[in-house]
Amino acid sequence: MTGFSTGRLGDLVNALRQLPGVGPRSAQRMALYLLERNPEGGRRLASAISEAIEQLGHCRRCRVLSETELCSICADERRDSALMCVVESPSDLFAIEAAGGYQGQYFVLLGRLSPIEGMGPEDIGVPLLLQRLQEEPVREVILATNATVEGEATAHYLGEQIRAAGVAVSRLAHGVPLGGELEFIDSGTLAHAFSGRVPLS
Ligand code: ZN
Repeated sequence: MTGFSTGRLGDLVNALRQLPGVGPRSAQRMALYLLERNPEGGRRLASAISEAIEQLGHCRRCRVLSETELCSICADERRDSALMCVVESPSDLFAIEAAGGYQGQYFVLLGRLSPIEGMGPEDIGVPLLLQRLQEEPVREVILATNATVEGEATAHYLGEQIRAAGVAVSRLAHGVPLGGELEFIDSGTLAHAFSGRVPLS
């Protein structure tokens, strides 16, 4: 890697390596491609990244990425306010929206309970979630956390809190493979998982 690890080229290679799944060799290939073959594309990429980071925040209600204080889903009055689906990440929400069929509200945890990563209930927004259950006419919360060990533990914890608040809880089960992450499940399976959700007791 001599010659690529220092100076401006080294900075660019190191910056590209922050992307998930990008090792030193592909980072080097990307950097050279942008500099030698597609500098205009590189400029567009740089400004798209910095503008997205500057201008995107989180919806104050559901915490998904949003340019406005309320995201387009929360602002849509035609959506069912009696149903709330809880997901770990914005990509899970986008996967459910792409599958179609679900017309309720959302809450995005932006993580999962994880003692190892130091993620506790406050970090995943549990106080805001419980506050919404008090203020909004939610009758059922669908826990759509991933079918991983941490996702299951998070669902278990949330289930207890939500039931204590007097709201029914269900869990996506049918068709979601163990260890499965929502964003990688196809739309048909995801739609099935919604219609086949089971009450948590
Ligand atoms: Zn929202």
